[in-house]
Amino acid sequence: MPVTDLAQTIQIPATLLPADGRFGCGPSRVRSAQVDDLVAASRALLGTSHRQKPVKALVGSVREQVAALLGAPEGYEVLLGNGGSTAFWDAAAFGLVERRSAHGAWGEFGAKFAKAAKAPWLTAPAVTEAPAGGRAEVPVVDDADVYAWPHNETSTGVAAPVRRVAAPGALTVIDATSAAGGIAFDAAEADVYYFAPQKNLGSDGGLWLALASPAAIERIGRIAASDRYIPEFLSLQAAVENSRLDQTLNTPALATLVLLESQLRWMNDQGGLPWASGRTAASSSLLYDWAERVAYATPFVAAPEDRSPVVVTIDFDGVDAADVARALRANGIVDTEPYRKLGRNQLRIGTFASVEPSDVEALIASIEFVVDRLG
Ligand SMILES: *Cc1c(COP(=O)(O)O)cnc(C)c1O
Repeated sequence: MPVTDLAQTIQIPATLLPADGRFGCGPSRVRSAQVDDLVAASRALLGTSHRQKPVKALVGSVREQVAALLGAPEGYEVLLGNGGSTAFWDAAAFGLVERRSAHGAWGEFGAKFAKAAKAPWLTAPAVTEAPAGGRAEVPVVDDADVYAWPHNETSTGVAAPVRRVAAPGALTVIDATSAAGGIAFDAAEADVYYFAPQKNLGSDGGLWLALASPAAIERIGRIAASDRYIPEFLSLQAAVENSRLDQTLNTPALATLVLLESQLRWMNDQGGLPWASGRTAASSSLLYDWAERVAYATPFVAAPEDRSPVVVTIDFDGVDAADVARALRANGIVDTEPYRKLGRNQLRIGTFASVEPSDVEALIASIEFVVDRLG
């Protein structure tokens, strides 16, 4: 029998399986308590106007709880708009970069923002690259007024520090799409810390959120007042004005907001970012320690300090990782496949705050069982 068929026939004993088999890196596990909150909210909120009090109160609660979770310094504001982090890149090219941006690009997502900033009204961006699995320091560049890199590069599982570049007047703009609420950091070290809710925050896609400093708000206002053409949907000034009223420019997905608010409340109740980052560190360490222990697996990210606590990438040697992922999937353990364009013999596992560390232990036992059967 060909090995690919064998993978599909392996039955992992129920006693080894995790209670919840969702280990994706986005969309990621939604806890059932969030879905209960969605059902509870359905009569009062779903299908009602986003310009009226109940939905505005929901948005207001999301904004307050994001600020609390991330430890917003005095004067920082929580902005939101439609379109996810991908829309935010275009919005930033229109409304946040004044002349030129400098980017760290050591994976798919960092590179995508750099590409969005290649706009005809801006000087070509400065891009600092590093091979997949590593990272680099973004150097001070002549005339750059935005410095940008991902807090967590989801395509490779590399976490980078959030720390200002020594370039007075420039803004530090951090892609926290998969990091927000899962990796501890000092919010005062960033001017814009933006993210989407479908990763560590366990909600659905379609929104972007950003914690913005007074300097960033000032920059947004100044560019909006200039004669630069800015499409309204991508206008950060419109996002500032609408966010202050606890609304979005156009209709948001209400279910996404309800799931997000529920997750934020849960995380803040449990102990906020110190609690959440402790939990993701514990879950990811189980996997990294295991991969260093067994002969057939190795953490993809060589430098331990760069290893992400929320997205764990593990290379396999002598075992076909695609077969392992296929066998896991046949047993209800899903989305452990690597980032599609990375092309490595690898598993990628989301260890976001919603994932129980005991489920990570069960996942490891399940992988060992599968590898043993695959021979
Ligand atoms: C998923 C992801 C994105 C893209 O988010 P969308 O909401 O799908 O646009 C951007 N950056 C990082 C780091 C991501 O993980």
